Amino acid sequence: MYDIIIIGAGTAGMTAALYARRAGKSVLVLEKEGIGGQIVFSPRIENFPSVPNISGSAYANALFEQVSSLGAEFDFRAVKSIQKKDGAFLAVTAKKEYETKSVILATGVKHRRLGIDREEELAGEGLSYCAVCDGAFFRDKTTAVVGGGNTALTDALYLSEISKKVFLIHRRDTFRAEQRLVEALKNRPNVEFILDSVVTALYGAPSLTAIGLKNQKNEAEQTLPLDGLFVAVGQEPFNQPFAALVDLDENGFIRAGENCRTSALGIFAAGDCRTKEIRQLTTAAADGAVAALAACKFLL
Ligand code: NAP
Repeated sequence: MYDIIIIGAGTAGMTAALYARRAGKSVLVLEKEGIGGQIVFSPRIENFPSVPNISGSAYANALFEQVSSLGAEFDFRAVKSIQKKDGAFLAVTAKKEYETKSVILATGVKHRRLGIDREEELAGEGLSYCAVCDGAFFRDKTTAVVGGGNTALTDALYLSEISKKVFLIHRRDTFRAEQRLVEALKNRPNVEFILDSVVTALYGAPSLTAIGLKNQKNEAEQTLPLDGLFVAVGQEPFNQPFAALVDLDENGFIRAGENCRTSALGIFAAGDCRTKEIRQLTTAAADGAVAALAACKFLL
């Protein structure tokens, strides 16, 4: 029986493991893919306090080493469900079940993909899902943002201060984003809107050099030369396996406040998987600490 099982080995999950081990708790981290979460796709991190410059994968590896050396256990298996059992919990995977007194859900989010050919191959090679992380690599270059929500418009505004030219590509001619963002973007002289259009192809090797576009209304096709493409078409949480146990919001994020407590006693949520406004490395790390200390308090 573990004191704490943490589901997810991103920044939130591994920081929770760090704090929990330092508090002397037995910890198992269950992760369905690799360590690090979304940040491993970022070629360079420049906004983590006291670390001026590190790649996402180097950062994730360093955190993994730090947490492992403190004695946290890791097992790379997908958790299918969490069940209540005799006042404790059972984390159920395809092959094994693990007993624990408390659970921290740190399942993260996945940036929604466009779902077109070569998307995974060009991620980090001119195609990015995070303008704040990667925008600085496109100083004085030509970039485009895909999407019509707040993230896309905010990203385009951010990039318009860095890039020489920014295209905002949206599949409709009205925006899900707040009007004030749309107006602000329209006032940027280096921004051009490409509406009613979808990205149909990605060109260039080893890095992106152009994209294919199709106008949904008149079916016209064009090739747009680009240095960088930022995809901001929404985010998808992975919380359905836990929906029977903790309350989720209308977008599938776990309802938990700044104290990281969920609707279920003994289950905590940390990082991007919970309802929150700012999803950054620093806020994920903060959540990991808060959730671990809340779990320690619960275990008293
Ligand atoms: P979002 O609001 O879900 O918007 C996603 C956008 O991507 C939509 O415009 C959608 O088009 C488009 N889209 C979805 N799938 C697509 C596809 N396959 N191809 C092309 N376009 C596609 O996502 P978000 O912008 O990431 O925002 C998520 C949440 O965070 C929202 O609640 C948002 O308000 C919030 N947020 C707030 C701020 C803020 O400043 N307060 C900043 C960022 C995010 P359609 O419109 O046609 O569906």
